[in-house]
Amino acid sequence: MSGARIDRVRARLAALGVDALLVSDLTNIRWLTGFTGSNGWVVVGRDAVALVTDGRYGDQAAKQLAASGVEASVLVGATGAETQAHLATLCAPHDRVGFEAEHVTYAQHSRWVEVFDTELWPAHGVVEAERRVKDSVEIELMARACAIADQALAEVAPHLEGLTEAQVRNRLELRMRELGATGPSYDTIVATGPVNAALPHHRPTDTVIEAGHTVIIDVGALVGGYHSDMTRTFVVGDPTPLQAELYELVLAAQQAGVAAVRAGMSVKELDGVCRGIITEHGYGDWFTHGTGHGVGLLIHEDPFVNRAGDAILQVGDVVTVEPGVYREGFGGVRVEDLVVVTEHGCRVLTATPKDSPCLPSPPTT
Ligand code: ZN
Ligand code: ZN
Repeated sequence: MSGARIDRVRARLAALGVDALLVSDLTNIRWLTGFTGSNGWVVVGRDAVALVTDGRYGDQAAKQLAASGVEASVLVGATGAETQAHLATLCAPHDRVGFEAEHVTYAQHSRWVEVFDTELWPAHGVVEAERRVKDSVEIELMARACAIADQALAEVAPHLEGLTEAQVRNRLELRMRELGATGPSYDTIVATGPVNAALPHHRPTDTVIEAGHTVIIDVGALVGGYHSDMTRTFVVGDPTPLQAELYELVLAAQQAGVAAVRAGMSVKELDGVCRGIITEHGYGDWFTHGTGHGVGLLIHEDPFVNRAGDAILQVGDVVTVEPGVYREGFGGVRVEDLVVVTEHGCRVLTATPKDSPCLPSPPTT
């Protein structure tokens, strides 16, 4: 990253009316500097950058900053008071320092007001606005994470019948680790049958997957800190007319959403493409969540794709497109892909086939 990300954030300081930004959110710190410890603050000034952490992470911070090509001093606070004193010293040369209003508690802010001589100014989503736009390194990590989830699902999906939801989850998560993932990207969702699959975020149980069930599997891998996210829905045995109708409806809505993605489009408009098709067919009330969300160092991050959002998609956004329908007694259907917004549409990172709800054959390779 070689300091380029620091420069992108620094370029925003003047417009914010601050001389420096005090970054507290650990995900933002990781994105800016490569530091992955659980305790840290970064002060981004116009000329210099400094990271403050505790004694567990001093060496790690120096190594990770160097590996990222970020030139910054590292200060270690042996106690909480010493850490606050370091931050006060770093902020002292600046007239006004922005703090991350979404990530600082009232108690933290009160302590800073006591020990800092500098004026503190609430800043909103400064690093997040830059973090949203993924560079090629980040996109390739997510593409690898998607490929691992694709491979794991290809191996596990042909053998769902007779297993419990929890067993399917365990197999997927073990295979993703064996294929090189740090772990699952989130708690894998396996939801089967007329009751469990009616819950969009059902947690896997000992319920056995049986003929006649719809099975929703929402699975992603974590690679180099970056997440993937994908959902496929299967029907065990021959689909009923309603299962076939709803699968085709959700798939049509999802494909229309993916086909519509382009830079300059509002998230509201994208949500409307998927929701409009499902609503036209009379199932609008069954689509109970937003169409998608950004993915990156977090599994859910900006931009959120829903009816209320006002974000505009930009080149480099990585978002999901995941309409679904749910109703107790029926179960549910969701189809989700992860896409990168490009100049001329999008690149789909998830590759598991979705043309049929029937259980796939085992992979031959
Ligand atoms: Zn998902
Ligand atoms: Zn998702």
